[in-house]
Amino acid sequence: MRYNVFSLIKNTLSGHKNWEPAWRQPEPQKEYDIVIVGGGGHGLATAYYLAKEHGLKNIAVLEKGWLGSGNIGRNTTIIRSNYMLPGNNPFYEWSMKLWENLEQDFNFNAMVSQRGVLNLCHTDAQRDAFARRGNAMRIDGVDAELLDREAVREMYPFFDYDNARFPIKGGLLQKRGGTVRHDAVAWGFARGADQRGVDIIQHCEVKGIKVENGKVVGVDTSKGFIKCKKLGLATAGNSSETAKMVGMRLPMESHVLQAFVSEGLKPYIDGVVTFGAGHFYVSQSDKGGLVFGGDIDGYNSYARRGNLPMVEHVIEAGVAMIPSLARVRVLRSWGGIMDMSMDGSPIIDKTHIQGLYLNSGWCYGGFKATPASGWCFAYTIAKDEPHKLNAAYRLDRFKTGHMIDEKGQGATPNLH
Ligand SMILES: Cc1cc2nc3c(=O)[nH]c(=O)nc-3n(C[C@H](O)[C@H](O)[C@H](O)COP(=O)(O)OP(=O)(O)OC[C@H]3O[C@@H](n4cnc5c(N)ncnc54)[C@H](O)[C@@H]3O)c2cc1C
Repeated sequence: MRYNVFSLIKNTLSGHKNWEPAWRQPEPQKEYDIVIVGGGGHGLATAYYLAKEHGLKNIAVLEKGWLGSGNIGRNTTIIRSNYMLPGNNPFYEWSMKLWENLEQDFNFNAMVSQRGVLNLCHTDAQRDAFARRGNAMRIDGVDAELLDREAVREMYPFFDYDNARFPIKGGLLQKRGGTVRHDAVAWGFARGADQRGVDIIQHCEVKGIKVENGKVVGVDTSKGFIKCKKLGLATAGNSSETAKMVGMRLPMESHVLQAFVSEGLKPYIDGVVTFGAGHFYVSQSDKGGLVFGGDIDGYNSYARRGNLPMVEHVIEAGVAMIPSLARVRVLRSWGGIMDMSMDGSPIIDKTHIQGLYLNSGWCYGGFKATPASGWCFAYTIAKDEPHKLNAAYRLDRFKTGHMIDEKGQGATPNLH
């Protein structure tokens, strides 16, 4: 069933009793050509593009929880392509282009909202760095505008421009950046993949990977052994654990990242804004809640909840930027596990084991990458070689020294 105005009218007339389930609930087959581990955004997008772009059919996605239970349903929904370095810039811009056409492509309303992403700067040096980033973006055909303080004030008059410690000097705006409803992305890719014959198997945990003569032959799961010719790992915060099943130690640490939602307010902030002098960013959901967050908690953890010092830091930075925020009540907060790589950039690559492919290292920025990550991972699995868009995201860059250190922080995951 296609979702369109005719199916809406038809189902309205029959009291909305005849909508088909968005995807099937199949039992796993004994064998697949390709198995993807992880039913998050990246795993589902990979299965979708494997079927759609490469015409492959015999595919399963194995998810240990339910669809959307991982970071795809926990992030703060921001998309942007304001990257500077050559390895990153074309990849994230491709993702933005896929976002721009995604809803038509997978026939699902993901509420893609290009409401603009504004990064504030608070010192002259920071403004110079933003000018450099903006120029690099524009050279690569990505939209970027450097705004002075008055232009920012026109957009957001209620910020604290004369804060004694962190005066606002201007900002870098990417108008095509914005937000997308995160769980609708999982549902849209799941439905699109299912319609193309992909089996999406929830509550099926992969517990072991079987390798014979240097080649993947299948996975041990909570629903029994499943044979496969190719296996893609897209397990985000659990990447170290799944890679460990074949004795691989990834250059990665798992950290918790928190996010917060306030009570519903009247329209207040119509774009996404990041504070440049501490860890705080904010947007407003269509329901009116302010959605905001900061940095990772900074210690290794698999707990999907954070601690109070980061809560305090985020709120302090938020109030320094928007004093009126002090009167807003927070409704809830949550956390997700981040797969923090040593240079802050992801890995989409083959491994030394034939038929085993790795997608990980998304840190706290993998949501915006979801379409391009799935697209490139599908290409890498189908063709057994990376696409030129993910050619820089090789696992061996940590051995050869070809790091893609966008933030210039070095091999320090808790700073990326
Ligand atoms: C609070 C927060 C805010 C964020 N904000 C943003 C943002 O604004 N913009 C942005 O770009 N990014 C953001 N991110 C990061 C982004 O959400 C992640 O980088 C991205 O979602 C990771 O990819 P995924 O969707 O595939 O992950 P997930 O949804 O976590 O998918 C991985 C799946 O693998 C499954 N799995 C793990 N192990 C196994 C196993 N052994 N067997 C079977 N299944 C397994 C898990 O259950 C999980 O469902 C944020 C993250 C958090 C937590």
